[in-house]
Amino acid sequence: MKILVLNSGSSSIKFQLFLMDKNESIASGLIEQIGQENGHAVLKANGEKYEKFVQIKDHHVGLDIMNELFRESGVLHDLKELDGIGHRIVHGGESFKSSALVTPDVIKKIEDAVVLAPLHNPGHLAGIKTAMSQSGDVPHVVVFDTVFHQTMPEYAYRYAIPYDLAKKQHVRRYGAHGTSHHYVSMQGAKFLGIPYENFNAITLHLGNGASVCAVKNGKCVETSMGLTPLEGLIMGTRSGDIDPAVITYLMRQGELKADEIDTFLNKKSGLLGICGTNDMRDVEERIEKGDERAKLAFDMFAHRLKKYIGAYYAVIGKVDAIIFTGGIGENDQDMRQKVCDELAHFGIKIDANLNKDRSNKGDRCLDASGATIKTLVIPTNEELMIATETLKLIKK
Ligand code: ADP
Repeated sequence: MKILVLNSGSSSIKFQLFLMDKNESIASGLIEQIGQENGHAVLKANGEKYEKFVQIKDHHVGLDIMNELFRESGVLHDLKELDGIGHRIVHGGESFKSSALVTPDVIKKIEDAVVLAPLHNPGHLAGIKTAMSQSGDVPHVVVFDTVFHQTMPEYAYRYAIPYDLAKKQHVRRYGAHGTSHHYVSMQGAKFLGIPYENFNAITLHLGNGASVCAVKNGKCVETSMGLTPLEGLIMGTRSGDIDPAVITYLMRQGELKADEIDTFLNKKSGLLGICGTNDMRDVEERIEKGDERAKLAFDMFAHRLKKYIGAYYAVIGKVDAIIFTGGIGENDQDMRQKVCDELAHFGIKIDANLNKDRSNKGDRCLDASGATIKTLVIPTNEELMIATETLKLIKK
């Protein structure tokens, strides 16, 4: 069965085509600079690269070009041949507790959640509507980044602000990266041979954006991102947790204006704000050269992560595994070594050689003998998770 996964933004569409009989991706690509003068479309399939540089006026033209590239490569001739199309949606608000087949009511609810994700949901909607207009009777499914976190108990997702106001304005913890946390926790359980409904894990999605999730008996019970992806860990350019009074203080000091707060916390803080680069590889190169600020940024990142692991250990009680994923989680041996070494008293103990081994890029366990909590590295695959969810819903 062929499933196409679309991740549509306001000016780009990422896509991946899966053959679900083998859980295998057979093509992937990107349409970018939609609405700009210099559009670019690329498809990789059969070990070849198919590319076009043309103006892409809107999402409709974007998908037409994707189809042309599909035809050129021979992997697909028409969207109508597909068994289903899955769409990634960043925010499902409070309405969605699971993935859903697209209906007019589902579209309306995604539109209602635009206030909560103004940078993402409008692009997703453009992608869904366009793809529906080009694919005949093919069923469409939406898979939300927020859904996995919808099992959090109310005492975990509420903020301690006036209750009625919070309810009225839908202010609560929603979390993000849910599809990734769900995927790596399921893979982790499978890897260890533990039934998912009995599996307890702390999943660490560490990329440019970074978040932690506590999974108890296969369900999310806590996560570090909040109303928006700003809360929690220190990230590439986001501050993560901060005393909100820092903002009012800086405003009173004349350092910050109201309309600068979003950019200040989301784009100018985090690793970038501390040491001048948002890229962990650069941070580590600078440490090698003796840069004190880079060392501070690295240590702050690790310290915040360690605090969350400790807090989530307390929340879950018994932890089967901690799972590293995302660009930093999958590749950064120094960060993994530091965090795990400092958590030895929890029974987390990794083998330095296994941790350094770059020959194995797949799912792996880093344990040294004597570890009582497993440490896994599971490369995330949100697209495969979306394709799997899509298949599940269209089979129902
Ligand atoms: P995004 O959240 O944008 O998808 P990624 O998951 O690709 O980001 O993660 C990007 C981060 O991963 C960057 O900080 C990058 O420096 C880091 N990273 C990638 N490879 C390595 C590596 N070998 N060592 C350390 N950090 C790495």
